[in-house]
Amino acid sequence: MKYIVALGDGMPDYPLEELGGKTPLQYARTPHMDRLAADGEVGSVKTIDETMPAGSDVANMAVLGYNPLRFYSGRAPLEAAGMGVDLEPSDVALRCNLVTLSDDEPYEKKVMVDYSSGEISSAEAHELINEVAVKLREDGQAFYPGMSYRHLLVWQGGPVELVLTPPHDITGKEIGPYLPQGKQCEVLLRLMQESSSFLPSHPVNRRRLQNGFRAATSIWLWGQGKKPSLDSFREKYGLEGSVISAVDLVKGLGVCAGLKAVDVPGATGNIETDFKAKAAYGLQELRDGADFVYIHVEAPDEAGHHGDAGLKVQAIEEFDEKVVGELRSGLKEFPEYRLMVLSDHPTPVPVRTHTREPVIYCITPPTGLFPVRMGGVFEETFAASGPLFEQGYTLMDHFILGGKQRGEQIK
Ligand SMILES: [Zn+2]
Repeated sequence: MKYIVALGDGMPDYPLEELGGKTPLQYARTPHMDRLAADGEVGSVKTIDETMPAGSDVANMAVLGYNPLRFYSGRAPLEAAGMGVDLEPSDVALRCNLVTLSDDEPYEKKVMVDYSSGEISSAEAHELINEVAVKLREDGQAFYPGMSYRHLLVWQGGPVELVLTPPHDITGKEIGPYLPQGKQCEVLLRLMQESSSFLPSHPVNRRRLQNGFRAATSIWLWGQGKKPSLDSFREKYGLEGSVISAVDLVKGLGVCAGLKAVDVPGATGNIETDFKAKAAYGLQELRDGADFVYIHVEAPDEAGHHGDAGLKVQAIEEFDEKVVGELRSGLKEFPEYRLMVLSDHPTPVPVRTHTREPVIYCITPPTGLFPVRMGGVFEETFAASGPLFEQGYTLMDHFILGGKQRGEQIK
């Protein structure tokens, strides 16, 4: 039996005026997902506990079958694993965004204009991060350049008792109230503030402004934590598997769970991503012997963060056609498989950040534990009238074990 998960990050949404009162999932043309929903088991899953941060890290950890209340130790250590950076037990990893702040002075009066610096290219970002490292790094600190605006700071013996804010949660807001607080917060504040003294005039940024792009005017540190210790997916389910994602966070989750992280050329994490290649690489992993493949597509979430309903509809349609559609036709070569299409959390266009409502999942062929309901379509309302998994991490048990007790299947 082959198991495939296709996850469209942040797809669920609210009814939007600009879409005639429909949600992007209702408005988008999604023949493949609707076909699956007509024949499959459709319900919803609560992936983010009320006491946890509403992040893709927590949500994807739950979807992968791990209880975040027990295993979650911060976002950046997962990203470090995805970037191939091995943390020592005393290391604290922090996400280092390149962001666009307004020109207001002093620093705390600046406004968070763009958490992604206009989705700056990796090549440009690497120059800037190197400059930050050369000018500001203290003993025991190391900067690692990542993809686009997403980078990493590892701080040997650093504190985790910090209150740090994800920059995508404060778009359009003055940053003062959201600057680092807690143990040794002044160290991080200095790095952030001083970066804004030389980044705006860096040649990379001058060129970006000339070409009509946003400048990366400051670093922004958040998501701190130490290396997590997950039981391996193999121990849990007896399956060997792979994870495919453009996002280091999801790759790293897979790595921490003992899955193989597969690099796909052209996977960017935004609308320009090569959707079809993800499906093709996923199918190849199955041919090469993987029992389980987890394909994560970031683009709908990015569109939600940018508050762009049209772009979100487009991302959902591309996910449907080029990932789900390709999988539907490609999976026919395997005698037995089970496919789950789902999301991790809503990223509603009006709020431009993640929310905690349960999200849709669809399993085909159905497990048989819940009836296939008439009139199935892949959208929020239909999902909400089906079964609900209150503890998100139990959905993977259900998907893989299909109603069997875990003890019967796993030795
Ligand atoms: Zn997400």
